[in-house]
Amino acid sequence: MSTTKQSPPKLIALLGGTFDPIHLGHILPAQETALWLGTEQLHLIPAHIPPHKSGTHANAKQRADMVALVCDNHKDLQLDKRELNRDSASYTVDSLREIKAEQPGADLYFIMGMDSLLTFTQWRSWQEILTLCNLVVNIRPGYPHFELESALVPELKHRLIYSLAQLQFHQSGQIILHESTPLDISSTLIREKIKANLAYAQYLPQSVYHYIEQHRLYR
Ligand code: ATP
Repeated sequence: MSTTKQSPPKLIALLGGTFDPIHLGHILPAQETALWLGTEQLHLIPAHIPPHKSGTHANAKQRADMVALVCDNHKDLQLDKRELNRDSASYTVDSLREIKAEQPGADLYFIMGMDSLLTFTQWRSWQEILTLCNLVVNIRPGYPHFELESALVPELKHRLIYSLAQLQFHQSGQIILHESTPLDISSTLIREKIKANLAYAQYLPQSVYHYIEQHRLYR
């Protein structure tokens, strides 16, 4: 009798953000994390109207253009425009529901920085998000885990797991910490540098730098 060997599930890493603009602090830690997880794809999902921010500086098309330029140069990255195609506020839970429906067999890993985990319970339907994916949180090397743990609410604390081997048994609901190379870069820092007429090219891929210069963004 022949047995059919079940193929392992497809693994998809996702990074949502305002990307206003996208910078090396988004790209490099997320790529390192995706490599560590062994995911086949890393999807970048620009938010249309971020629920937690008062507005964006560049418009939705410009932010998507900049992400597209990055994806052109990195074949492991894919621009996912689903939130930009919506008229309403962007909610991660809606995107995850859609992706799960499109790829029912896939395991989804939602990557975020530690700052995002600390406000995660303010996200819409955060409990449902945890039924759809695992969270992978980038922390800084040397940052003591217990400091993060003590800052987390109990509902999140009990979901923390510490090894990739353990994570493979869970399709969703777990939070794993990953130490990626720390890059002290934010979009806010870049916008401030541009406004103050200071050098900022070192924080971005070259193509994004040229786009910002060409369109005179963030002046
Ligand atoms: P802003 O300064 O405008 O608030 P940002 O640089 O924090 O923007 P977002 O687009 O809001 O960028 O971030 C998207 C995701 O990327 C979030 O989960 C955030 O934690 C993560 N992230 C942003 N910058 C870094 C970084 N330097 N290292 C690791 N993760 C980061």
